Amino acid sequence: TQSGHWLMRYDQELENRYLRRLSIITELKHCLQSEQSELSMVYQPKVALRERQVCSMEALIRWNSKVLGFVPPDEFIGIAEQAGLVEQVTSWVMNQTIRDIVSFRAQGYDFTVAMNLSTQDIQNAELLNRMHELLNVAGLQPGDLELEITESDLVSDASVAIENIRQLNSAGFRFAIDDFGTGYSSLAYLKDLPVHTIKIDKSFVLKLATDKNDQQIVKTVLSLAHIFGLSVVAEGVEDDTTLALLADWGCDIAQGYYISKPVAAPVLLEWLDSTPY
Ligand code: C2E
Ligand code: CA
Ligand code: CA
Ligand code: CA
Repeated sequence: TQSGHWLMRYDQELENRYLRRLSIITELKHCLQSEQSELSMVYQPKVALRERQVCSMEALIRWNSKVLGFVPPDEFIGIAEQAGLVEQVTSWVMNQTIRDIVSFRAQGYDFTVAMNLSTQDIQNAELLNRMHELLNVAGLQPGDLELEITESDLVSDASVAIENIRQLNSAGFRFAIDDFGTGYSSLAYLKDLPVHTIKIDKSFVLKLATDKNDQQIVKTVLSLAHIFGLSVVAEGVEDDTTLALLADWGCDIAQGYYISKPVAAPVLLEWLDSTPY
């Protein structure tokens, strides 16, 4: 029958999704244990709009699996969290990112680098201590690293996370709230936390040039954030009109494909030498 057909297809889809998850977990475990990592980091510049100058780079992970091909981080980070693998992934990211910062410094570049932490990382005091230690050993300062966390890491019963953030902040680490606007936290709430920066989610920025609602939202967030003394990054800037609007409205920092896509470290340094920023 028609409905029997529909159910079968639904079953098939569930099974496919289950198998995909399973192979991601299997392959990720494999890859975390092997010497020749399939993981790599790419970097995307953030530009300070008033100074018209690159101020920071966001470090983003890439996974090119021999078996599965390219697996987007949006897909495998969530699965790694559920499978108890995210600490290992973050450790890898920490090591590689700190090594890259050392290499940037050695070549005369002094921008800060922003690293993404997942919800479990920010509750993991041991992992965070290791990060601090790694920085020390590398001869870097906490201020060389920015930490991007999401709104949902802080709301409701996140006392462990908040305690860890306070401690790291006292030690000199800077925090940015990622994907701002997609969760439920308010700016009024953020002002009581040691957070210096919010990143307006790209869903509000991608169509900014034409969408009046997005324009209103972004303008409102900007003025409120500035009242609370927060610096604002707009991510997902894909065209010059959007960049000009953001600069007009006093947005502090912009990030997006219009400026540069995330690229491997050597490409980034080449880009830096030829960009007007
Ligand atoms: P995110 O932290 O919000 O990162 C921004 C995402 O937007 C990145 O996708 C970036 O490539 C993309 N992006 C930047 N500019 C533009 C633009 O102009 N237009 C569009 N359409 N997209 C833009 P990516 O690299 O695929 O990462 C997706 C998500 O995966 C990240 O979102 C973050 O939540 C997670 N992620 C990536 N790397 C890491 C990592 O090292 N650790 C952790 N825990 N999560 C990571
Ligand atoms: Ca981020
Ligand atoms: Ca985001
Ligand atoms: Ca995100």
